[in-house]
Amino acid sequence: MTERNGGRNGESGNPNDDRYNALDGTERRRDEGTFREDAMSGAIGAGSPEDVGQGVGEASQLAEEATVGAGRRETGRGSFPAFDSHHPPDKDLIDDCVHCGFCLPTCPTYVLFGEEMDSPRGRIYLMNKGLDEEPMNDQTVRHYDLCLGCMACVTSCPSGVQYDKLIEATRGQVERRYERAPEDKAFREMIFQLFPYPKRLRLAAAPLKLYQRFGIGEKLRKAGVLDKLPARLRAMEALMPKLSKEERTPELTEPIGQRRRRVGVLTGCVQRTFFSQVNSATVRVLAAEGCEVVAPKEQGCCGALSTHAGREEESLAFARKTIETFERHGLDNVVVNAAGCGSTMKEYGHLLRDDPEYAERAKEFSSKVRDVSEFLQEIGTVAERHELSVTAAYHDACHLAHAQGIRKQPRKTLKEIPGMDIREIKEAEICCGSAGIYNMVEPEPAAELGKRKAENILKTGAEVVVTSNPGCMLQVQASLKKMGREMPMAHPIEVLDASIRGEPVERLLK
Ligand code: SF4
Ligand code: SF4
Repeated sequence: MTERNGGRNGESGNPNDDRYNALDGTERRRDEGTFREDAMSGAIGAGSPEDVGQGVGEASQLAEEATVGAGRRETGRGSFPAFDSHHPPDKDLIDDCVHCGFCLPTCPTYVLFGEEMDSPRGRIYLMNKGLDEEPMNDQTVRHYDLCLGCMACVTSCPSGVQYDKLIEATRGQVERRYERAPEDKAFREMIFQLFPYPKRLRLAAAPLKLYQRFGIGEKLRKAGVLDKLPARLRAMEALMPKLSKEERTPELTEPIGQRRRRVGVLTGCVQRTFFSQVNSATVRVLAAEGCEVVAPKEQGCCGALSTHAGREEESLAFARKTIETFERHGLDNVVVNAAGCGSTMKEYGHLLRDDPEYAERAKEFSSKVRDVSEFLQEIGTVAERHELSVTAAYHDACHLAHAQGIRKQPRKTLKEIPGMDIREIKEAEICCGSAGIYNMVEPEPAAELGKRKAENILKTGAEVVVTSNPGCMLQVQASLKKMGREMPMAHPIEVLDASIRGEPVERLLK
């Protein structure tokens, strides 16, 4: 049997392992956490599309079109057999699935479509068929493409099925062996030639600033021009953040008081270009907590987007470069403030397992990676918190909650601030639809999930939405806007920074 639940963040999967226990409060996939119990109780009677995921009306109809690929050009091409011998989905991992259906109520595509082949169980069935030498074709790829990679099925599975490894292997095969329709290929290529490169993003941001400053989007919307754009471009336009001047992160920041740790900070691609204030807040908080902070200026993309999309060679090249960059600086930890990036960097050991030069270095590197809230709870906080009387809805980013098992730490970090009132969001385990590039390549189901999340957020009555992933911020903001609503967004570290600096709550709510 393949090793279960090991490999991430240097975990051995052994509960007696010190590293496993060191991260106090972290809900790992092995834990009998409340989330799993909730999912299991919600799954009683699940097991067929009739049991779950009904009653979403319009959404269901729209999503059904998406799931069968309505309006999408089928290539008629495929591959036979479905998988080649380079990391096909692991048969042992597939056999771990006992078809119980406990994962179904937590799977956003199953909740939306009520279609077995768009559930984790259905996708695992398709992978198994692929190993049995059935072809990979337009339909099977469609079911794989519709998966958000949110990993809600991983945390809700009582049998410990490592769906994350299965879909990662499958996506690699799809990208290598399946010929996408030319327009689909071109759109994906455009995304991957732009988003992992901060310099290119900056260049693209310059005309977009003018677009926003002169309200061109509003004018085009009123004139009905935007409605005529293809759905994917409309989605990109709607997701565009409000662009402001980029704050540069200093290469070295001295600790305040006695030095407790020397840490590196990943500044990211989208984070650096569109949410640079989050990086500034991260550095200030770490320094206030006694850390010497290094933000290497030569750092590039961590490879998260490419990894999640199955672009293996590209993702490995980004991973190697990231390891080399941070290795040079003699760091105790590498701190990450974007959930998707942190989750991938904790996986480098697995991703580079075949590379004799990097396999060990990658494991060592991954063992040092921490989400910023995880890190703060681990070292114990010392900086004084000032009162911040605000009601915040905390949104779990999937790659933090499901992929890294980090739910308690950001909540604890926020609750340490006097005056903070944290509200939980209904259906917290269901993805908001952001999922890396998902909301750009699959705009219809992403919009349905975004609306569902925005409605649940509004029900909390909170004044601000707090979440740890830039993609979630953009998705929730766009979804609220579509509903004619607006709410301020903040990363937990921005809230903590405001408290440590004693800023008035009004500034945060701007
Ligand atoms: S993935 Fe897990 S929860 Fe889902 S059907 Fe298989 S064993 Fe059950
Ligand atoms: S990763 Fe998310 S969308 Fe994909 S099968 Fe699992 S729960 Fe469903």
